[in-house]
Amino acid sequence: MLSRPRWIFFSRTLRASGLAAILLLLPAALLAETNASNVVCRAGLAVERREELAGKLRKITGWSDLKFDRSGALRLGANPIGGSRRARELLSRVVMGGTAVVLEDASKLADVAFCQVLPGKWKENVPDSRPAFVVRIDFADFENVIGDAPALRAFDAGWGLLHELDHIVNNSLDATCLGEPGECEAHINEMRRECGLPQRAEYFHTYSPLTLDSHFITRLVQLSFEQKEPPSKKKKRYLVVWDANLVGGVIEDKKIAVLR
Ligand SMILES: [Zn+2]
Repeated sequence: MLSRPRWIFFSRTLRASGLAAILLLLPAALLAETNASNVVCRAGLAVERREELAGKLRKITGWSDLKFDRSGALRLGANPIGGSRRARELLSRVVMGGTAVVLEDASKLADVAFCQVLPGKWKENVPDSRPAFVVRIDFADFENVIGDAPALRAFDAGWGLLHELDHIVNNSLDATCLGEPGECEAHINEMRRECGLPQRAEYFHTYSPLTLDSHFITRLVQLSFEQKEPPSKKKKRYLVVWDANLVGGVIEDKKIAVLR
């Protein structure tokens, strides 16, 4: 169904490993939860993290009653106030679609930078089992991000999850060149616009000038967001910054980062 087996919000460090080696095996018991909703949390995703993620999705969608139920299944809301219509449509398509999405806490995994989606496979040979994907969320990475407040509101675990879901539902691709957001982030930017937030101007992060001009042990990288300012329509730029040594997902070829 999908032309590419996996997509990664940032990290490409797993690219060299074989697909068979990174297929995630899922217990068939999770199918029971996914009968209620196609988006379900793995047991290791703590209740506090589920609530944190639900809170971010509530802000983005305007659904004040969106939540994860006791079984960890995502329950959509009703009667939205504000928020993004496109985000609600995307979540609805996933929750009511034919593909299971399992959410996993990857906060202790060094090879995940922010978020990542991988194909899943049911452990037992369950009849009628639907295709499955695992979205890994590194909550700790998002806690290591600093920057301008509007950009931080446009870059959190909720937006990261929506990015991965857009890959699954729309088969969208990430950018391959510096300085552009790519097809997937273009979809997510439409949602940010509906929320009155700045849009991500680039898919790839670049090295911060601070890192290039100093001997700091930290490797600071940055990501740009832009928003048109009324009435002049002039674009205002906002940045988020993090230490790539803590988060991972460093672009292998440093020269690429320096080009900007
Ligand atoms: Zn992506």
